[in-house]
Amino acid sequence: MNEKLYNVDAYAKNFESDVVSVSEKVYEKEQVYDIVLKNTCFFPEQGGQTSDTGFLYDTEGNAVFKVFHVAIEADVEHHLVKAGDVEDDLKADILNLKKVRGEINWEERYDKMQNHSGEHLVSGTVHRFFGYDNVGFSLSSENVTLDFNGTFTDEELDRVEKEVNKAVFENFEVVITYPSEEELKTLEYRSKKELTGEVRIVEYPGYDVCACCAPHVKRTGEIGLIKIVSAEHFKGGTRVTIRCGYRALADYGTKLSSCRSISKLLSVPVDEVAKGAAKLSEDSRALNFKINGLYAQILALKADSAKPEKTNIEGEECEALLIFDDCADMNTARKLVSDRIKPDQDKDNDKETAVGKLICIFIGDDEKGYSFCIGSGEIDCRKLLNTLKTGLNAKGGGSESMIQGSVVATESKIRSLFT
Ligand SMILES: [Zn+2]
Repeated sequence: MNEKLYNVDAYAKNFESDVVSVSEKVYEKEQVYDIVLKNTCFFPEQGGQTSDTGFLYDTEGNAVFKVFHVAIEADVEHHLVKAGDVEDDLKADILNLKKVRGEINWEERYDKMQNHSGEHLVSGTVHRFFGYDNVGFSLSSENVTLDFNGTFTDEELDRVEKEVNKAVFENFEVVITYPSEEELKTLEYRSKKELTGEVRIVEYPGYDVCACCAPHVKRTGEIGLIKIVSAEHFKGGTRVTIRCGYRALADYGTKLSSCRSISKLLSVPVDEVAKGAAKLSEDSRALNFKINGLYAQILALKADSAKPEKTNIEGEECEALLIFDDCADMNTARKLVSDRIKPDQDKDNDKETAVGKLICIFIGDDEKGYSFCIGSGEIDCRKLLNTLKTGLNAKGGGSESMIQGSVVATESKIRSLFT
């Protein structure tokens, strides 16, 4: 068996090793070189965590090979190098590699150590507070998600966040042990599966005891800030997203910069952007209400001044009021049509009514097409819908007294259907 240096020293960034084998294969539809080493610092993809990446330097030559993925098969790490990343004159060298110096991408690794360690504190604390298990875990360079078989209130998650950050500020040592089978029998620890053979136990004293194969930080202070950034319902439980250490710092930076931009736009202090946004939303609702009132008046004026067109709908003579507008919305159009097709109750009302006529409102423009709402007190509008569908390939539906839909055609094409 090869030696897993990442288990011996999580802080080892480089190492030297004999090469056990180099072979060519296809990995996820890509031609790769698969390099097995006597020992390695590269943590492979396992337990929900993506693998380390880095470089292998040929110690007997000048070649450098970029490791983009490390897989583990039968407890052996396979360091994969894309064939496309290896220059033609080095293809023979890579197949004859004897000794290498390996170097992992330390920034990426340390970031994962901070986030994996933070995950243990969160999962252990959730288990201690609420008895829920972590039933799914994913840690990549972009995201950390924890799936729990239970649900939380916002206050409960705040409580968890406070507790785990307390552990960070206490800056205590993380204890890693390999208990005997006998000791394991009496030890209470979290584990996702039944374990056999040597079990690596990672303990955050007072907060969590868990079987785990991944590299952790030495002391909790190194994790840095732990932020729970979202929680959503997932498979009957909750998917929690966290950010720890440098990621939490970057996240704070991104969010603060957003808040500053909003603060400038709204002319309110950074701490009051939520209040400012609420006021803006309220103002915008009031403004929309006013605008819709104006649109309603404009449409009504257009309806009153429109000259009725004599038309023939499937053999039936009638008059149609055609109104085109590029601003009003369909709710306003619908309301006007529905008002105008009611029998005229006020005989003195000099409004142009649509009883015995068709009132046709088209909202849109020649480029994008039109949405329409058409109504009548007497004529079966569905007949007109047929004409629109056959003549202009319109889409829509409705009842005898009102139809709605959309049509991609110019105003003159639509008008020509009525004349
Ligand atoms: Zn773990």
